[in-house]
Amino acid sequence: MTDFKRDGSHLAYCPPVEKWDDWTEYDPDAWPRRVEKHFQIVPTICFNCESACGLLAYVDKQTGRIEKFEGNPMHPASRGRLCAKGPATINQIHDPDRVLYPMKRSGARGSGQWARTSWDEVLETFGARIRKAIQENRGEEVMYHVGRPGHDFIMERTLQAWGIDGHNSHTNVCSSSARLGYLLWHYADRPSPDHANARFILLLSAHLESGHYFNPHAQRIIEGKMAGAKLAVCDPRLSNTASMADYWLPTYPGTEGAMLLAMAEVILDENRYDAGFVENWTNWQELEVDGFSAKGQTFNATIDALKRHYAKFTPEFAEKETGVRAEVIVKIAREIATAGSRFASHLWRGSASGNLGGWQPARALMLLHVLTGSVGTEGGHNLNAWNKFVPKPFSVPPPQKRWNELLYPPEWPLCTHEMSFLLPHFLKEGRGRIEAYFTRVFNPVWTYPDGFSWIEMLRDEEKVGLHAALTPTWSETAWFADYVLPMGFSSERHDLMSQESYAGKWIGFRQPVARVLKERAGEKFDYTYQANPGEVWEEDEFWISLSWAIDPDGSMGIRQWFESPYRPGQKLTVDDYYGWIFENSVPGLPETAAKEGLKPLEYMRKYGAYEVTKDVHRLNEKPVAAADLTDSQVDLNGVIKKNGKPVGVMVEGQPVVGYNTPSRKLELFSKTLADWKWPEFALPEYYRSHIHRSAQAASQGKPAEDFDPQYMPKVEWPKDSNGDVYTLLPIFRLPNLIHTRSGNAKFLYEISHKNPLWLNPVDAKQVGDIRTGDLLKVHTEIGYFILHAWVTEGLTPGVVACSHHLGRWKVNQDEKIERMSSSWVDLKEVAKGQWKMRQLDGVHPYDSADPDTKRVWWSDAGVHQDITFPVHPDPISGMHCWHQLVRVERAAPGDQYGDIFVDTNLSFAVYQRWKALARPAPGPNGLRRPLWIPRVHRPEEAAFYMKKD
Ligand code: SF4
Repeated sequence: MTDFKRDGSHLAYCPPVEKWDDWTEYDPDAWPRRVEKHFQIVPTICFNCESACGLLAYVDKQTGRIEKFEGNPMHPASRGRLCAKGPATINQIHDPDRVLYPMKRSGARGSGQWARTSWDEVLETFGARIRKAIQENRGEEVMYHVGRPGHDFIMERTLQAWGIDGHNSHTNVCSSSARLGYLLWHYADRPSPDHANARFILLLSAHLESGHYFNPHAQRIIEGKMAGAKLAVCDPRLSNTASMADYWLPTYPGTEGAMLLAMAEVILDENRYDAGFVENWTNWQELEVDGFSAKGQTFNATIDALKRHYAKFTPEFAEKETGVRAEVIVKIAREIATAGSRFASHLWRGSASGNLGGWQPARALMLLHVLTGSVGTEGGHNLNAWNKFVPKPFSVPPPQKRWNELLYPPEWPLCTHEMSFLLPHFLKEGRGRIEAYFTRVFNPVWTYPDGFSWIEMLRDEEKVGLHAALTPTWSETAWFADYVLPMGFSSERHDLMSQESYAGKWIGFRQPVARVLKERAGEKFDYTYQANPGEVWEEDEFWISLSWAIDPDGSMGIRQWFESPYRPGQKLTVDDYYGWIFENSVPGLPETAAKEGLKPLEYMRKYGAYEVTKDVHRLNEKPVAAADLTDSQVDLNGVIKKNGKPVGVMVEGQPVVGYNTPSRKLELFSKTLADWKWPEFALPEYYRSHIHRSAQAASQGKPAEDFDPQYMPKVEWPKDSNGDVYTLLPIFRLPNLIHTRSGNAKFLYEISHKNPLWLNPVDAKQVGDIRTGDLLKVHTEIGYFILHAWVTEGLTPGVVACSHHLGRWKVNQDEKIERMSSSWVDLKEVAKGQWKMRQLDGVHPYDSADPDTKRVWWSDAGVHQDITFPVHPDPISGMHCWHQLVRVERAAPGDQYGDIFVDTNLSFAVYQRWKALARPAPGPNGLRRPLWIPRVHRPEEAAFYMKKD
């Protein structure tokens, strides 16, 4: 692929920008006649995953209808390419079953009775409830809970303006374990690999199909491979990515850390590490291990201590743990050492999100980068904070003064994000209540573990006073809301985004295509819902209007943050908000726009994206600013402090900024973990997961030598469960689906609409001569689900797997809801906390404005597995550990495909067993969590200290 160039000279394969106002193609419906169709092309940003690829909306000039979406070649990260989900935006916006107007329930919660309401009524109702809560000092009872954010900072700013600690997210069921592993090394909580320039690439888990940076990374991995890089993929499942790799490493799940540390041991043992980098850029002087203290010792003596410590991670030990042959581990370790500073890697879901201690593989993987000196280098590992650009708006409210323990409870002081999946249990324990709850592109009843506990919480009006589901599609969670508020897809909303998708920094601008075109033609709109289909709105304008509704006369000090920087006292518009950012906060953008005679906002509306810089390597080596050096002190480890806060570090006699850690170095030794009651993990270690073979043996009452109840919770099976025990991998994704939002995307569901249980032929025989298509019953710790078998050699024996994404359901067949993707179910609470779900009907062809709905040929909508999973909070990262031990048996007579049973009394008991593993705050000085670790929507510093009472 020709690389992105800002002058557009790489555009040969796409419509050139100068033709975007009138682009001609032949009408495919008129074929074989050649009938011209004229389009206006408007750039926007895909909303279907976090990658934020650039889309071009092709609008028929005659009808004003968007006819298709293709890639925007002017977007520096996606460079004109998309995955299958980008073009399927067309299905989402024209979905005949989508919600087009704000709806309010007209019967009991969950009864499925709805009536149309107005945006004004919604704003008045929520404005009054939130105003009262804030005025009565109950701000913590207002909670915003986000699934897919798709924007940067604007929501944190809104909640800060309200003065509440109310930001909740989905991150602890997604990525927080990997984030903790990275963060402990260098503060930045995500990797940004430079795949295109790497010589060796190591991916843990399916990675690409896992969604994060899918398309931007995929194209660069292929570029790297074409330039000679080798690719290794570590995944128990033969994923699409693994099938493209030079090495497939099907590790037994949860043992990846053992393999990575064995590779580190090879590199250390063979003296192939980058000694200069390790000496200059790690905090080796702080190392304390196995009775050795680096204080007063030489670097060489410290390296010897490290070698002694890691000597136990022999390739043979790793082979025993992982199932990957020792010679393969040695070979890859040597190839990584040869790649040196051009070693790139990525770890996101998979081993990090599946396992107890899943943050340790990220620590161990980073050790390989540190040993090879491939941090901040071309072709190496960069920090997300160096490649992501979040420009500041015209004003930023002060941080909130309060700490909400429903979000950050004391048991998990090191969790990177809110303990969101435990919310129903926290409310059950009486830790608080919610007065006004916004779920935003978020469907916990379906995507979270333990969905029946969510249903119990959401239907209880004592626990949740008022609930609005802000969503572009119907969802299982919306069913239990008081209001369903339709929000826009990619071409129906404004958002500003940036991601660490390559070695560069960029911003992308999502925009409502119909409004933009109508405004170009001279029409005027106060709000985007006036130009969108039905009354579909966008969040930016909703939050601005709601802030005015909370504080109509400005007396609460909230409204001031939502007044125009250009027209004092008047309501902020999206043009004001983004126009100011583009004019003032994006280096180089005003000058670039001016060259074309455009204002910065006009430039972003024209191109949809802007590359800020490619100068992103080795930013740790930047000199400390002169102002920071004035009146600063240097401590014994070379850390430069000003007013008691680190601002840089001395390296080879030079004052440089370093990393954002307490030592300003890469933290090989984590004093933070030692200080916060986990000294045994201060170095990167291998931490056995809750699904380790020893836990599997213990769960069956067999001898389990390595089972350590200090770290591993014991599985207790429900009394009616039977079958042999396997490890279930429930989080691999299908590359063409997107959680709830792909529900009625016909291009996507036609490709994938079932989620059978993968099992190896060896295990199929063991379970009882199972063949593909046979019905299996999978028992979890809290219930069971029933689905078809798919027998395949593409999976490690002893492991079964079921894809995320499928098994959508609805409780009312008459409602025109997600008819291409949902089964109709009978949902019953048969005794207190005991829930049964049975599928009554599947998918059928149906009449609608879209003739394709009559051609729906599939009937299966899959099986909802997540709702049968208990919560597993990792005691350190707080991440939900998705993998689990299950019992698998052939389904019995009377069992039906899609049957589900769950006992939420058992799920509460599992929650308590896992909670008991945690080591709660306070930490040093009475802190709730370390001050240096970032917190989303961070309160003022005083709130970090626990009160004595
Ligand atoms: S990777 Fe696919 S779904 Fe994600 S933003 Fe890009 S095109 Fe959209």
